[in-house]
Amino acid sequence: MHRTRLAPSPTGALHLGNARTFLVNWALARQRGWQIVLRIEDLDGPRIKQDAAAEAIDILGWLGLDWDEGPLYQRADLSPYRAALERLAAQGDIYPCRCTRREIEAAALSAPHGDEHELRYPGTCRPSEKTPADYNDPAHQGCAWRFRAPAGVTRFHDSIAGRHSHDIQATTGDFLVATKEGLPSYQLAVVVDDARQGIDRIVRGDDLLTSTHRQLLLQECLGFGPPPEYFHLPLVVGEDGRRLAKRHGDTRLSHYRAQGVTRERMLGLLAEWCGLGQRRELSPQECLDAFKLELVPREPIILRSADDVWLLALTLQNERK
Ligand code: GLU
Repeated sequence: MHRTRLAPSPTGALHLGNARTFLVNWALARQRGWQIVLRIEDLDGPRIKQDAAAEAIDILGWLGLDWDEGPLYQRADLSPYRAALERLAAQGDIYPCRCTRREIEAAALSAPHGDEHELRYPGTCRPSEKTPADYNDPAHQGCAWRFRAPAGVTRFHDSIAGRHSHDIQATTGDFLVATKEGLPSYQLAVVVDDARQGIDRIVRGDDLLTSTHRQLLLQECLGFGPPPEYFHLPLVVGEDGRRLAKRHGDTRLSHYRAQGVTRERMLGLLAEWCGLGQRRELSPQECLDAFKLELVPREPIILRSADDVWLLALTLQNERK
């Protein structure tokens, strides 16, 4: 049986864009008989907010989305990540790095930019050839670890975005797999978790398209078998074309819910964003019955101020009564 995952990061409350991705993921899974694992991605150190995991679980339930296994917390057991790092180090696929952020920034000034989360690493600590290392050697204490990314373009086929190519060296360079604090990076953790949790169908926002290339390389080096099938969805953006953030006002689901927006109104808007026709109140089952992957728009969705008016319309009417 195929398996997918809902993988919220408890770094903030879920917003309309996250909800729309989760709705597509859930509807695809339930239509196609995939199992759903709920995985809480709580490794991101200082950005993790207390209570955000419980809130995410609560709000998914409010939306009417369900899952078959979990919640599984990444923090609960770090040993699988360590085992993967030990293997990669022994194979010479990763190497210890002592560069500070400031050093990388200084080098990056004269080089192309990496993605939003990571500066391009100029390769300062990279051994000239693959060098097997002992991940647990005390000499490496306090080091971060980086993956030796090959030069040139890598490609994969995405079930929504189609053929996608990316040059890792030109954008992020040798990327982090473990931090100085000894925690696995997002890229490593997600690959290890998807493999050990038997995930072979991945549905997520297309801001992660370029990450997928890094994840495919890690999967291969770790001998994790055939890669998952990927479905990367265009994001919900503000009227300025930028991805949803604080500048677009409060788009958290908890905020709408607190103002009295009903689940059916919320699902109606999200369903319209899935290409299911003009917004109308819908139950989770009605969304499921109507959902068709072919209808999901292949371009970014724009959140407009009129959307808020629609979501809040009933609340306002009730207030006037
Ligand atoms: N936890 C990530 C997020 O909330 C999703 C990671 C993934 O789907 O691989 O953006």
